[in-house]
Amino acid sequence: MTLTKPQHILVVEDEEKIANVLLEYLRGTGFEATHLDRGDTVVAWVAEHAPDLIILDLMLPGQDGLGVCSELRKTSIVPIIMVTARTEEIDRLLGLQLGADDYICKPFSPREVVARVQAILRRVQMISASVGNTETTRYRGLHIKTENFQALVQGTDLDLTPVEFRMLALLAEVPGRVYSRRQLMETIYEDRRVVSDRAVDSHIKNLRKKLRQGFGTEEVIHSIYGVGYKFE
Ligand code: CA
Repeated sequence: MTLTKPQHILVVEDEEKIANVLLEYLRGTGFEATHLDRGDTVVAWVAEHAPDLIILDLMLPGQDGLGVCSELRKTSIVPIIMVTARTEEIDRLLGLQLGADDYICKPFSPREVVARVQAILRRVQMISASVGNTETTRYRGLHIKTENFQALVQGTDLDLTPVEFRMLALLAEVPGRVYSRRQLMETIYEDRRVVSDRAVDSHIKNLRKKLRQGFGTEEVIHSIYGVGYKFE
């Protein structure tokens, strides 16, 4: 895996002094860092910029960290470090099962925060490496996230099975390219056990049905008679 650009950390913090210290440390460590000072701008920003990790303060104007975290988790597995002002709060937050990856209490040392950021990103990279390509594919509102086998259309999770996911990931990788049934079979069944053309067709049929949740009646997987399928 090659890292061609620095990893991007979003800091959501309404106390400017704290935010500035964090940004300075993150940038000094080689990260790209962006600061937002309100909760209600986070979800839209994340959808557009896909940061690698979020440091999220609990008490924020607009929308609090709890609301932001649970809304983000509907569409994203981006690592989140939640920042609270009181140690006792951490127990309560853990109990809520918000899906944050780590919790840090104020006052904190920025060095410690950066160390935690690095630890989480290392963990995420190890997981990603084990399933292959970490790149996400975006095409016509379709967002394929290989790291968690998720396909989204305009933010809606299509809820694909692993086989459907692998098929769509292949088709969407090069839009317009035609893949034969054999190629699709070989990609979806890693052990290359024998499957019939009909099995591929039936997966395609289910996949099309699920894609309609996002694309409506417009067909995005096209059959090419006698050859196979393409995504466009
Ligand atoms: Ca705050």
